[in-house]
This record gives sequence, C-alpha cells and structure tokens, in this order.
Amino acid sequence: MGEFDLIERFFKRPARQADVGIGDDCAIWAPRPGHQLAISADMLVEGRHFLSTVDPFRLGHKALAVNLSDLAACGATPRVFLLSLALPRADETWLAGFSQGLFQLADAHGCELIGGDTTQGPLNIAITVMGDAPSSQAVLRSGAQSGDDLYVSGHLGDARLALEAFRGHISLPQPVFDAARQRMETPSPRVALGQSLRGIATAMADISDGLLGDLGHILKASHVGAEIHLTSTATLMAASAHWNCPADLATTCVLTGGDDYELVFTAASAARASVLAASAASGTRVTRIGRITHTPGLVLRDEHGLAVEHHLRSFDHFA
Ligand code: ADP
Ligand code: MG
Repeated sequence: MGEFDLIERFFKRPARQADVGIGDDCAIWAPRPGHQLAISADMLVEGRHFLSTVDPFRLGHKALAVNLSDLAACGATPRVFLLSLALPRADETWLAGFSQGLFQLADAHGCELIGGDTTQGPLNIAITVMGDAPSSQAVLRSGAQSGDDLYVSGHLGDARLALEAFRGHISLPQPVFDAARQRMETPSPRVALGQSLRGIATAMADISDGLLGDLGHILKASHVGAEIHLTSTATLMAASAHWNCPADLATTCVLTGGDDYELVFTAASAARASVLAASAASGTRVTRIGRITHTPGLVLRDEHGLAVEHHLRSFDHFA
C-alpha cells in the first residue's frame, strides 16, 4: 500500500462542508458569514502523550478529542480539521482502528477532515482543528474579574490516577482502573458546554496539563488571583465514589493531574443561574470550586477557610 492508497483508503471521504476536500493541493472551505475562525493545533507523540500499547481506535479518538477540547475552551463550534501523520509503517489493522476512532468522534461533532500530510517516521499525530464563533463572542483566558466564581466541568484527576496505576505506583480495583483508564484514553471534549457558556463565562481554558497550571494561565492573562476551596475539589475524581483514595493522592490527581480535558472557567456570581442552565442544556456537570480575587496568586483553603501551604505543580514539558 503506497502513500496515496493509504490516504484514499483510510482518510478520504466525500467532502460535505468543504468546497474541495482531500485530493487537491489545498482544501477550499468558506467560513460562515458573521463568524470568526478559532484555530488550534495539538500534537501527540508516542512515549510522551500516549503509551505504545494504546488501542489505535482510542488513539484516533484522543488525537481529535484534545483538539476539540481547545475549541470547547473558546466556546467555538467545531467545523473542519487537518491531520498530519508520521507512521513507522503502513499497518492496515492499526490504520483501520485509528481512522474509525477518529471519524466516530469527528462525526459526533460534525467536524470534517479536509486534508493533511502523511509521511514515514516515528509515530506522531498532529491535528489542526478549525471552528467558528459569532464575531467577538469567543471566550478568552483574559476576561476573569475579581469577585467572579470559579468552576470546573465534569470530573478531574481520573486520568492521572490511571497513569499512576500504569506506572505501578498504586494498585486499583479492576473496575476503578478500567474507568480511570477510559478517562485517560478516550476523554470527552466539553464542546456543548463550551458553546453554552458563550456570553456567560468571563474566561475559560481546557485542563490538559492540570487544574493549577491551566487556571494559572487564566490568572496571568486576566491579571487576577484565585482561591480554591479544597472541600469542593476533594470529591472531583469520579473514582472517589467507588474507591477510598488516600487524601494526598486525591489532591495531587485533582489539582495537578493532566489529560482530563475538562473546562475551568469563571463567571460573575450574578450569573449562577445561567451557569446551571448551560450545564443542564449541555448535560455536563459543573462544580463551583472557588472565586477570583484581586490579589494575584493562587491560594488553597481548607475546610476552616485557612490557607494551605503547597508545592504542587502542573505538567510542563520543559520544566
Ligand atoms: P502535497 O504533496 O501537495 O503536500 P500530498 O500529496 O501530501 O499533498 O497529499 C495529497 C492530498 O491528501 C492532499 O489533499 C492532502 O491534504 C491529503 N492528505 C494527505 N495526508 C492526509 C491525511 N493524513 N489525512 C487527510 N488528508 C491527507
Ligand atoms: Mg505532502
């Protein structure tokens, strides 16, 4: 199977929203009038972002999911994407699984593959995704205001819990491990919630490297600080409902664990009912975990409201 047969067999499908899709030198596609494009790229590298043993279907899902999560964080609607693949060899079984996982998620979000590049080399998956939002309505990191409420979507920390189990640092009951592993390998990008929060959230980011780090980006861009109430984050791991996690480990997983692809966002306290309505409309739970402060920096507070000393850090590729 040559390069072009490979593209033809596993990636080419009839163009839908694109005027010209896969097969020419460029894809041709017209964005919707009155909208701005939201564009993001994410790369997955074997050994760094995924284990070599991962199921190709799940990898196809995850490669697109992490990109859709960036669109969700801006409140954008997914539209089209490009896939650049380096493959060690043209393994048909692998390609079939990978493309099925990829297209299943793409179809669920109406996001169309319009082009890419294919080359031989160490396994590396790079996707560029494009979405749109009505002009000036994309949600940025820079809009948080002192006094705003601070929220996270869904559950946090389960992906890190799975990683700890993979590394042999902890041992989990099988059903807990399976559920955590699923969260790590097939995250659900919160696209519907992100869009529902347009005009409500004052700032938003997705949690790819860990809550503290990704919230840190909002605080820096918005020139504000925040306090997090540890009583509200203690039970954010889905696993905590089925497994008695040591408190230290739970804190580390929830606050610093990466790979959850949930949203962290802020909204005026007057908008609480709107946040709950957006949560209900999108079928995604949200938890209020603290508030934005005028004083810069991030303070963790215990059940008595006292500041807790901590040295927790989120993931950084070059730290
Ligand atoms: P060029 O040589 O002009 O860079 P290619 O020969 O690499 O183009 O690709 C041929 C067509 O196949 C192009 O339309 C390109 O966008 C598309 N394509 C290549 N690889 C992929 C891929 N992995 N997924 C989707 N489309 C792809
Ligand atoms: Mg090329």
